[in-house]
Amino acid sequence: MAAANHSSPFYVALGRALEQRGTCIEDICPADDQVAGRVLHDYGAMFISADAVLPPPLCVFTNEDQVTRFQKAAGRAAATIGNAVIELQPAAMSALLRARATARAEGLEISPRDGAEAARRSYADTVRLWNSRFLPALDHWTRAQRLSAQQAERLRRLPIHQQVPEVLDLEQEGIFFSKDLSKSVLYSIAAPGTSQHIAMLAFDANEFLDQRVREILAHHGWFQTVLSDLPHFTFLGLEEKELPGRGLSSVAVAGQTFWIPDVN
Ligand SMILES: [Zn+2]
Repeated sequence: MAAANHSSPFYVALGRALEQRGTCIEDICPADDQVAGRVLHDYGAMFISADAVLPPPLCVFTNEDQVTRFQKAAGRAAATIGNAVIELQPAAMSALLRARATARAEGLEISPRDGAEAARRSYADTVRLWNSRFLPALDHWTRAQRLSAQQAERLRRLPIHQQVPEVLDLEQEGIFFSKDLSKSVLYSIAAPGTSQHIAMLAFDANEFLDQRVREILAHHGWFQTVLSDLPHFTFLGLEEKELPGRGLSSVAVAGQTFWIPDVN
């Protein structure tokens, strides 16, 4: 990955937002941490969200205890939609429920994709998702003789947050860990401890293909901010017209508008 451009619109806006919270970029995402840098570029929109929410205090959580403490500090609001109990930060939940009420009044639905996992996730949830890609890919590349049995075993035994940078290095050589083994694992799932779902600021909606549903969600502060992840919405609690001033730029993919960190 190219070095971070600290004069880019996103880094300037991020620096300002963090300063107001008494912290700085180096504290939440150390510059020498390759994974943290990827997180900031791929999922960074949550760090410039409205004051009504609490962004994570760091780019990569490395254990369950850190996640539990953060989620407690942020507050957890629960709601039952269909037969799933979902949890989000309180401001995110009330905006989602308002959006859903608007949608239903128009005969539309906003519903969680894959049950409870559509919203809050624990550290263990992100580890389980990581292993669902990491372990089958290790087996595949061992069978394909791109990795030796010893290399695979060594990777398997590493602490999970050390597996991620090693996987990113292997991907530079074309040894990919996404579900279909054709692209980076980070296009497939978030690295352990890094998801916007851990921040309780993300919701995966079944109805993401419906343009009117996307409009309603955006009107209530929910935007698509992760380029490769179509059903995934992020609560920013802002109006769309405020987003460029927060260092996000809009990118159209398949007729959908994504607001992603402008790091160029
Ligand atoms: Zn998601």
